[in-house]
Amino acid sequence: MNAMINSEKKTRKKPKKLPKQFPWFMPFMCEGCGDCIDVCPNSCVEMFGLDRKVPVAWVVDPDYCIGCGKCSDACIVSAVQMTAYVDKAIERYKTKKPFQ
Ligand code: SF4
Ligand code: SF4
Repeated sequence: MNAMINSEKKTRKKPKKLPKQFPWFMPFMCEGCGDCIDVCPNSCVEMFGLDRKVPVAWVVDPDYCIGCGKCSDACIVSAVQMTAYVDKAIERYKTKKPFQ
């Protein structure tokens, strides 16, 4: 699985334009199922805090996010909302970790 993700990461491309919407992950609601990771076409999401009782999903590669919303659609507990505040969301993923 990791090898597959790594090979996908090598072939993915950064979007040319900023997406119109961006995922806003809410770690306090996340149940760590990993469904959002499975559906992300650009492998932007990973589990954070594997040493925790419940690891949470987080956008680790915001530069590759195309704003498709698949992560939000996949989350059955609504822990991912799409936001139009794209710059703010990107800055959050680049400067903060979950629960900060
Ligand atoms: S919006 Fe799409 S590309 Fe961005 S993290 Fe979610 S599934 Fe991945
Ligand atoms: S789909 Fe939702 S609950 Fe599952 S890991 Fe992603 S954000 Fe967390």
